[in-house]
Formats: sequence, structure tokens, C-alpha cells
Amino acid sequence: MSAEPIIMARGVTRRFGGLTALDNIDLDVPAGIVHAIIGPNGSGKTTLLNALSGASHADAGSIRIGTHEIFRLKPHRIARLGLARTFQNIRIFENLSVVENVKVAAAGNRPASFIDILLSNPRHRKSEADIDMAALEALATVGLADRADDRPSQLPYAQRRLLEIARALASKPNVLLLDEPAAGMNMTESMTLLDTIARLKSRGITILLVEHNVRLVMGISDRVTVLDFGKKIAEGAPSDIQRDPQVIEAYLGRRHRHA
Ligand code: ADP
Ligand code: MG
Repeated sequence: MSAEPIIMARGVTRRFGGLTALDNIDLDVPAGIVHAIIGPNGSGKTTLLNALSGASHADAGSIRIGTHEIFRLKPHRIARLGLARTFQNIRIFENLSVVENVKVAAAGNRPASFIDILLSNPRHRKSEADIDMAALEALATVGLADRADDRPSQLPYAQRRLLEIARALASKPNVLLLDEPAAGMNMTESMTLLDTIARLKSRGITILLVEHNVRLVMGISDRVTVLDFGKKIAEGAPSDIQRDPQVIEAYLGRRHRHA
């Protein structure tokens, strides 16, 4: 593993009224690995991704992407540092074609700020041809190149989830956050998804994979962090996590929640 983490979070805390959804979470993700965040429903996984991507800010803590402190930065500023994400609930424009959906993401993830224009940052001279290329490449990566001109509604559910990943890839991220990408997929579809994730890793993209299903992430993850009631209860190699009594208790224990 490389020495410098690409994601470094310290003391990340998020409260919703009386509920502490994230309680003082530390997280180090070395560049180039697949790091899984697992935990029962309501354990804080999505809240953590929201804090990292800026979608919904934490109340306290420090979050670094590379050398940049991103705590409370707006999502588009964080995206510009090379971070992209997908959402647990699919977000697709039904009135656009598959490739147009990806192009919107390729073009729109990086809006020009006044300063960028003043400095004539090359990013904002990105041409239409570059955007087309990025979109088609992203579709090819997830195996949807031949569906480019279809409507999203023509895609089976699993492919709609892949389209979401293609949208995230269109911005050419270094870090990709995936929120339960296999939700609603059958075993074959999940295996295809895991292949895609492995391919992204082989291209040097760091992947933070949020997943409810422990078994699914074990084969692909280099490291696993387990959340329960907003606390980190375990972290380590997949084989250690599978044997960890606290983890087994969190998933199977009787003290179970209402969610
Ligand atoms: P997970 O993704 O692990 O299922 P979440 O991060 O979505 O869990 O939620 C963690 C806890 O925070 C849950 O108890 C959930 O009900 C609560 N929560 C999440 N978002 C909000 C919100 N916007 N307002 C109030 N409570 C929330
Ligand atoms: Mg969630």
C-alpha cells in the first residue's frame, strides 16, 4: 500500500437532532485500492459518503482528499479534485438518451467559476468532442457502449445502475464513491459489477464501495471498514472482518433495530 492516503478523514461527526449518525469517524484510504464500507441499514454509510462528497456536510471533523482539506466544500469543488460518486437511489434523466445522460455529467460536473474563467483554466475550454469521447469511453467501461442511443427506460435495472457509474466516470475521477451499486441486482449482475469495479481499480481509480451485503464485497475489497450505529466497530482485511465477533454481532445480533 502507498504511504499517503488519498482520503484521510478525522473525527467526522454528523448529528440529526438527537441521533448521532456518524460518531467521530477516522478513515484512511490509500490510493489505488478498493475500500469497502459495510454495516447494517442505518449504520451511517450513506451519511459518510455524503460528508466525503459534500452532498451533506458533517458537523465536525477534517476530511482530506490528497492534500486538500474539503470539509464543508461544495460538491462541485470536491468533484474538481477528482472525486465522483453514485447515489443509492438512481438519478437518471429519463428524457435524455443513455449517452446524453453521461455527457451531461461529463460537462456538468465541472462548472466554470468566475476565478477559473479569469485564470482561463484549461478545464473550461473542454470541447464538445472531448465530452463525446469521455462519455463514450465511460459507457464502454461499464459495457454499455452499444446502448448509447437508447432511452434509459429501455435498460434493465442492473444496466441503469451501470449507467450511473458511467456518469460518475465521465468526469475522469481518481476517487470513485459507490453507494450500494449492487442493490437490486441478481447474482450474475452483481458479478459483472464486481468485474467492472476490478477493471476500474486496475486503471488506478481508488474506489470506496458502500455495501450492505458483506459477502459481496469480501472478494474484491483490499480493506473493509465496518460501521454500526454511526461508530466504526472494525477495520481490516476482509478475512479478518468476516471472523470479527463484533461484526457478526452487528449483523446477526438480537439487539436489532427498527429500521
Ligand atoms: P446507511 O446508509 O448505513 O443505511 P444512513 O447514513 O442513511 O445509513 O443513515 C444513518 C442514520 O442517520 C439513520 O438512523 C438514518 O435514519 C439517519 N439519517 C440519515 N439521513 C438523515 C436525515 N437527512 N435526517 C434525519 N436522519 C437521517
Ligand atoms: Mg445508505
